[in-house]
Amino acid sequence: MSVKHIPTGEAHKGQKGGQTGCGFDTRENPSHWVNTDERITCDKNGCK
Ligand SMILES: [Zn+2]
Repeated sequence: MSVKHIPTGEAHKGQKGGQTGCGFDTRENPSHWVNTDERITCDKNGCK
């Protein structure tokens, strides 16, 4: 499972309602995030 940040199109490790692997809190801007099964494209620590 990954979670996509819609404004950037980047897919992070994690899921909507929690934190991404690299530390974004998806609860701050819930409308910016959507659960997806896309490949993770974020290359920051924790998502990779
Ligand atoms: Zn990330």
